[in-house]
Amino acid sequence: MRRFVLILIAVTIAALAAPLDSRAEQPKLIVLISIDQFPQEYLQRFRRHFVDDGFGRLLTSGAVFTNATLNHAITLTGPGHAVLSTGTYGHRNGIVGNAWYDRAAKRNMYCVEDAQTRLIGVPGTGRSPANLTTGTFGDQLRIGGSFQPRVVSISGKDRAAILMGGKLANGAYWMEDSIFTTSTYYMEQLPEWVRAFNATGKINAVFGQEWERLLPEEEYSFLGGDDQPFEDGGKGLGRTFPRKITGTDPSRITESFYDALLTSPYGNELVLEFAKEAIRAEQLGQRGITDLLCVSLSSNDYVGHSFGPHSHEVMDMTLRTDRQLAEFFSFLAEMFGLDNCLIVLSSDHGVAPVPEWIRARNGRVEAKRVEGTAVKEAAGAALTKAFGAPAKGTGWVEAMSGGNIYFNREALQNKKVSTEVAARVVATAIAELPTIAGAYAAADLRSQAQRSTLADLLARAYQPARNGDVLYAHRAYQFEGGGSTGTTHGSPYAYDRHVPVILLGPGVRKGLYAGEASPADIAPTLSVLSGAELPPSYEGRVLNEALESEYAR
Ligand SMILES: [Zn+2]
Repeated sequence: MRRFVLILIAVTIAALAAPLDSRAEQPKLIVLISIDQFPQEYLQRFRRHFVDDGFGRLLTSGAVFTNATLNHAITLTGPGHAVLSTGTYGHRNGIVGNAWYDRAAKRNMYCVEDAQTRLIGVPGTGRSPANLTTGTFGDQLRIGGSFQPRVVSISGKDRAAILMGGKLANGAYWMEDSIFTTSTYYMEQLPEWVRAFNATGKINAVFGQEWERLLPEEEYSFLGGDDQPFEDGGKGLGRTFPRKITGTDPSRITESFYDALLTSPYGNELVLEFAKEAIRAEQLGQRGITDLLCVSLSSNDYVGHSFGPHSHEVMDMTLRTDRQLAEFFSFLAEMFGLDNCLIVLSSDHGVAPVPEWIRARNGRVEAKRVEGTAVKEAAGAALTKAFGAPAKGTGWVEAMSGGNIYFNREALQNKKVSTEVAARVVATAIAELPTIAGAYAAADLRSQAQRSTLADLLARAYQPARNGDVLYAHRAYQFEGGGSTGTTHGSPYAYDRHVPVILLGPGVRKGLYAGEASPADIAPTLSVLSGAELPPSYEGRVLNEALESEYAR
């Protein structure tokens, strides 16, 4: 009997070990690419204009998840990038918004703000992943490889670079005016190669460059005319092609030039060029172990905000991103051979159509910009009606932030009203407002989550210490905070949640996969493909159906 058990154990060990031994070679480099504000739909809408080796390469040779959705409600850049790296949502990773109200400090806290650090080479408050409350795929890659693997993260935006990189990244770099910078969280001074890149003056050299359509105008006209009254032509960009990238003063470089640059294809061009320099200088993928490079292309987001998803500008940005990626992939092919690179493409969120663009087709459709003050006033009125007016000189609502209502808790205490009771009163009252899809007392989110998709999505974006007392969402095609032109994102609707998830590289089986998937699945899947431990708090799933059998779990 004892002998039989021993044999059984030996056989079991052999069976467990075999798949590991027969695995394909580990990728030399994992490249995680996020296109900021990139609905899955763009890959269909503009596909006939793609080249073969950009998006086309991913779509024909990769594992393409056509129904991948972010399953949280606050679809913003900080939260979205934290999902990509941690495989979980704000309720576990802490990034519940781009910013939230800090009750103790009585001010808004930016998601990557960190006063304990400072920026290098430029003034300004420090930045770090201190607000991230769990680890990332990159962190586990570093830990698993005794810190030999390198993780470098690059973006036009600080929050995208920092949150994709995680807590243990070797470096996160982003653009601040004329340079790429980082913070003292990562290092005391910029590496030599970053200083050399900055010294070339490549960012300022964009001043005066033209942005013209890539294709003839008639290819764009199915979207409508180029000049639309709801487009934001600020930053000196104007509403029509062609345009020169100068900012508001065409005679010299001002702050608005850098904003204009980021709202153009030149922003992505610089980020990708910097990424190539990072690969060369940091020897990513060239040291016999798997490294991770994260790249977030920010300019698609700025262009989308200004001109809307049905603009000539967004179409042109998408086509130019396609060509830029084709060029970047050919660089990777030259450096490593694409068979040695694991490329992942996704996005942090989609975008809402411009309300006026919809109403131009049918003026009776309830697509509109909403004043957040209406919600605040209704909340205050409901509390006054239920409990009497608050003490003179004070209000019931202390702060409003991204679909969250933060009560003045002192005012509630004075009336001996519990936060929960007050929150239920307010949630019931504002749910009556014509623009509101749903409102929940924070304390009720979890119990409601089983019955309501909206509550479920909000619950994943909720952490008690950071969120408000009431969470709410407007109806589809209606949003706060979009100014009077352009558009935004941040809602719980499919147009903000449905984004690409595409994997290409060793261990991945190409194909179209129409089942449920999510950007939260990327981090655990990368763990399996690279042999790293799973991200500590992940809730996404391993995308087994797209893995070669030796990897499938
Ligand atoms: Zn974004």
